[in-house]
Amino acid sequence: MDTASTQEAGTRRHQVVVVGSGFGGLFGTKALRRADVDITMVAKTTHHLFQPLLYQVATGILSQGEIAPPTREVLSGQDNVQVLLGEVTGIDLERQVVTSHVLGRDSTIAYDSLIVAAGAGQSYFGNDQFAEYAPGMKSIDDALELRGRIFGAFEMAELGAKRGDNVDHLLTFVVVGAGPTGVEMAGQIAELAHRTLKRDFRAINTRSARVVLLDAAPQVLPPFGAKLGAWTSRELEKLGVEVQLGAMVTDVDERGLEVKYKDGRTERINTVTKIWAAGVQASPLGRTLAEQSGAPLDRAGRIGVNPDLTLPGHPEVFVVGDMIALDNLPGVAQVAIQGAKYAAKEIDGRLKGKPAQPPFKYRDKGSMAIISRFRAVAMVGKLRLTGIIAWLMWLAVHLVYITGFKNRVTAVLHWFVSFLGRGRSERTTTEQQIFARAALGRLRRGATDLVSAPGAYDAARELLDESRRHELEQQAIEEARLSDAGERGVKTGERV
Ligand SMILES: Cc1cc2nc3c(=O)[nH]c(=O)nc-3n(C[C@H](O)[C@H](O)[C@H](O)COP(=O)(O)OP(=O)(O)OC[C@H]3O[C@@H](n4cnc5c(N)ncnc54)[C@H](O)[C@@H]3O)c2cc1C
Repeated sequence: MDTASTQEAGTRRHQVVVVGSGFGGLFGTKALRRADVDITMVAKTTHHLFQPLLYQVATGILSQGEIAPPTREVLSGQDNVQVLLGEVTGIDLERQVVTSHVLGRDSTIAYDSLIVAAGAGQSYFGNDQFAEYAPGMKSIDDALELRGRIFGAFEMAELGAKRGDNVDHLLTFVVVGAGPTGVEMAGQIAELAHRTLKRDFRAINTRSARVVLLDAAPQVLPPFGAKLGAWTSRELEKLGVEVQLGAMVTDVDERGLEVKYKDGRTERINTVTKIWAAGVQASPLGRTLAEQSGAPLDRAGRIGVNPDLTLPGHPEVFVVGDMIALDNLPGVAQVAIQGAKYAAKEIDGRLKGKPAQPPFKYRDKGSMAIISRFRAVAMVGKLRLTGIIAWLMWLAVHLVYITGFKNRVTAVLHWFVSFLGRGRSERTTTEQQIFARAALGRLRRGATDLVSAPGAYDAARELLDESRRHELEQQAIEEARLSDAGERGVKTGERV
């Protein structure tokens, strides 16, 4: 009996749709592996992204594949899941239907239960135009573009210095936002300049590069408390990072940014490479859900959910992870993982007729931020750790959570290269990594403008003319003959 007739016979299984393949989406789906349900996971990327290590992709330590394995592969052993590519553009709570879109094609999927784990994007606090000059750190595209911009700035500086130009703006790197991501980026760029690249250039001294970490807040790493924040600031300064606090960025352009300090002073910093690690904005799907359910949204676009993570008035819809505003929970991976597992357990329990679980309770397993090799800060319960012990803890925890055995092995190798040696295995960058996103942004509908409309694909135009076949065959025969006869590299006139 095929699927359609099974459904007609009334034995259709409970349909769960999961939006997103991040921490919430992946762990929620995995937690349903033994449940009597069919799951459709829809996500706008084909990979599961381990965001905490994005900065290592941006600075050439890891490859993108190591932190972003294909979701399809990760879930290939779980028979009750179908993974679909698509950006969810609509959720109809009344009809219980999700609509997704990819390259001009729309799909709809009906659900009985829905888990929304669409995460958060970068916030430019209403100045989205800054994004073109100061990429954020939320996606593989961001990390690869930043890698291109960072290593590209040193290349351009070498060229400029060789001509005798002033290259200060090329050797100045500004990171906006002194949270964990900003601290990690600033520390890594300082290590690149002072350690990794110091012997690679001739016209510039990379050690003279200026790395600035800016934040409007009065301390770095506010969620880690004043003591760890102050320790981190000192360590960053030892590494050669200029930490500027009470410094608000008021404008960003191609060649620099404007900063307004707490005492009213303003300054322009000339810099080609700006990195935005300052704010987050929950997925716009939060608004879609709020408009239909009346649930509140906070300033960061996070949606207020019930204590059991369901949407008010919709017990069949769970929202988890970075999208939710509940009990001041932080936007960290464990909140998404634990929330998604809770939602999955509730769905499974309902099908088995079990009573509802008590409200969701987050178990804080601690937080860590790395400053540079051998330096990190960690908070576990009341324990506060700094230096190499925190760094080793960071290493161990990240190894456990990287998805896939192969990725763990290669990540360890790359960490050996970068932390014990001074190399970076992943320094490859291309012009397209730096500029393709801006080019796509200039198209009205982005990548959709580059593909044929559905149904309009003209196969005949794509086929090689049959007459070319003979020519290609002859070319291949001649290539093989030249190799077999040992005639390569022999001057035609000298043939024997
Ligand atoms: C640079 C960086 C460093 C971090 N470091 C740490 C750390 O050290 N420790 C820590 O605990 N946390 C860290 N975090 C936070 C942590 O990564 C997030 O809290 C966590 O990823 C949230 O999980 P989520 O499932 O809610 O969202 P995400 O993991 O962001 O997943 C969202 C998913 O939804 C998909 N999606 C989004 N919109 C749509 C749509 N419309 N349709 C379909 N799919 C969609 C995305 O493609 C993605 O697959 C860091 C975050 C960043 C950006």
